[in-house]
Amino acid sequence: MIIKPHSSKILVVDDKAENLYAMESLLKDCEVEVFLAQSGNAALSFTLHHDFALILMDVQMPEMDGFETASLIRQDEETRQIPIIFMTALNTDSRYIFQGYQSGAVDYLIKPVDSDILLSKIRVFLALDSYQHELTAMKRQYQLLLNCAGEGILGVSPSGHIQFANAAGARILGYTEQQLRGCHLHRLLFGAQEQELPHWEQSTIYMAYQDGQPYRVHDTRLWSREQQAIPAEYTSAPLKDEAGSFVGGVIVFQDISLRKQTEQKLLELAQYDPLTGLANRALFHDFLNLSIARARRRKGNMAVLLLDLDHFKDINDTLGHDTGDKLLQSVAQRIQYSLVTPQTEAAPLDGNAHLLKSVAQRLKDNLRRSDLVARLGGDEFAIVLDDISQPQDAAVVAQKILGSLAPPHQLDNYQVFISPSIGIATYPACSDEAEELVKAADTALYQAKAQGRNNYQFYAPDMHRAAMERIRLEQDLRHALRVKEQQLSLHYQPQVNLTTGNLVGIEVLLRWRHPEMGMINPARFIPLAERMGIMSELGEWIFDQACGQFQRWCQAGLLDEGVMLALNISSRQLTRDDSVSTIQAILARHGLPEHSVNLELTENTLKDELEVITQRLEQLRASGMRIALDDFGTGYSSFNQIHCLPIDSLKLAQPFVNKIGQDAKNDAVIKTIISMAHTLGFDLIAEGVETREQAAFLQEHGCDCVQGFFIHPPLSGAMMTRLLQSRRTNK
Ligand code: C2E
Ligand code: CA
Ligand code: CA
Repeated sequence: MIIKPHSSKILVVDDKAENLYAMESLLKDCEVEVFLAQSGNAALSFTLHHDFALILMDVQMPEMDGFETASLIRQDEETRQIPIIFMTALNTDSRYIFQGYQSGAVDYLIKPVDSDILLSKIRVFLALDSYQHELTAMKRQYQLLLNCAGEGILGVSPSGHIQFANAAGARILGYTEQQLRGCHLHRLLFGAQEQELPHWEQSTIYMAYQDGQPYRVHDTRLWSREQQAIPAEYTSAPLKDEAGSFVGGVIVFQDISLRKQTEQKLLELAQYDPLTGLANRALFHDFLNLSIARARRRKGNMAVLLLDLDHFKDINDTLGHDTGDKLLQSVAQRIQYSLVTPQTEAAPLDGNAHLLKSVAQRLKDNLRRSDLVARLGGDEFAIVLDDISQPQDAAVVAQKILGSLAPPHQLDNYQVFISPSIGIATYPACSDEAEELVKAADTALYQAKAQGRNNYQFYAPDMHRAAMERIRLEQDLRHALRVKEQQLSLHYQPQVNLTTGNLVGIEVLLRWRHPEMGMINPARFIPLAERMGIMSELGEWIFDQACGQFQRWCQAGLLDEGVMLALNISSRQLTRDDSVSTIQAILARHGLPEHSVNLELTENTLKDELEVITQRLEQLRASGMRIALDDFGTGYSSFNQIHCLPIDSLKLAQPFVNKIGQDAKNDAVIKTIISMAHTLGFDLIAEGVETREQAAFLQEHGCDCVQGFFIHPPLSGAMMTRLLQSRRTNK
């Protein structure tokens, strides 16, 4: 801030014009502004409008003399401080001079005045005036600084009483500056209302003053006039005079409400999932550790539930991510709801604003502070049940969650069904350590999914063993795929027409000989390969080997016209962008015509990505290959869906064949399937035929083609060659 330079003004009062002009010329070297007044009245009116450093005044003037003028000037608050020097040619007696001083003169000069003396006196007064102005300007400047400061500033006496408060300080605390003056600082400090607050002389602030140290508090509250606690930070510093003695302190403080709010928001963002408002992974872990510690102290039980939505990916893929997000929100709400309602109460359906509102309210009111629902990411949720009396209580909660998620979710224009799988691990039964508990719940979740989804499973130590085995098997399978022929081989199983006895097809079945575990069933490792994402690579190898073998048999003249190579194909193999061209390239490499290949696709896999799969099957079929629906009857395809699929034949699943002759209903179903297949123009082949009775039943009801141990088990390549050769010689 700049203090404006001040130019001093002098007023000369004399009734004689020649005196005025003489004085004016005398003062011209003084760098002052000179004002001339020819009467007392004129002088008074000048003083109303100007701020004079000095008045030089003649005593003898008509109408109003100098003394009278001076005393009027002295009466005015604004002008009383102006120094006045009287000048007179007459009456030098001391009484007269005394009267002059009484009326406010600071000096008295007798005419004719010695100009050097006069000028040196004038310079003294001008210097004084200049100091005075500087001082006032500085005072104003500091006042302005204090008042413009955004921080609150308080000056306190050694006894802790407030002597000064700036405007911001008063505003923050809800007082006027006046009201604050005289208050004790303790009235503002948080905690001051509590008994244990020490006397001022024992307070930390006071003691810091005594040590001559500033004292900082970063995060506290100050009491406002309305007794509201205002988040604040302050610095307090002692004030000392020149002698170094303590004369009080100054406190500079700031309202940090906004910062606190931002911090709170950030904290929430760091701990909560923005989509569902549930706790996030970080908070879940903190809470889990706390809950375990509490259970340990209490010698009680607690549980972790991991929940995963079955086939959630399909919803995202088919209905879009927005709908997927809405579904997650709806699920989150229902899970929370299940935790707070008695078991008998049904979960509310979506789309009912009134109910949802009441749910939200109830959650606020009732959610046990000790339970926590978190979204760990994607469609994965976690629930911590603190303080359960026995592990089975977790099953009750899981059952409630399954129940609450069963009704369809109404999302925009869709009714969406979704089921969860839940894995449960309890403390201390499964583990007493957070990370292991989560792993255990995850293993149980995996088990729940394997059990057919929409169910819950408790962690059992066997599961852990199974999980470890699975991990090992995955590593070994990866290795097997690298060394291929050393561990992997193909078996071949004939498909036969019962009536003619002709070979109609040869199904290729993969075999894995594990170096330590021996032969491993494909039903066990193929799903593993699918999950690991190596199925298409594995499938390519199988196709390549099988086509080579099949072509060698053809060239050796071992196969009749029309015998087909039946290849199992995984949906993972089909959904790849280049699946069609890859298969065609393999056939071309071995010179195998498309119409000699029959692709078997398991019915179960059809529900995932049906659209892409249908499209690929159509392309393959258009190129001449035939398509069979494997394991028909065990999956989800409904009768009204099946005629839309690009398929040529159905493979009646083993479980039906197994029960032939044992269950009348089963036999009736088989008959229905056979006649339906014929009506729709599909070929039908029964698999897993083990007995003569089964074969006879099938033949009697019109299913001629069969495959199974009754005819031949799957054979190695060499055995199959021998079989084909013996068939040839027998003809
Ligand atoms: P799938 O395609 O339904 O194959 C029929 C399964 O039944 C084969 O089991 C076969 O060995 C077995 N089987 C044949 N006749 C009989 C019988 O009379 N009685 C009984 N109980 N079983 C019989 P496998 O070879 O263990 O294959 C199991 C499943 O693994 C297959 O079921 C198929 O889904 C899958 N798989 C096998 N090889 C391949 C392959 O190369 N690629 C793909 N994608 N999947 C394959
Ligand atoms: Ca098959
Ligand atoms: Ca089958």
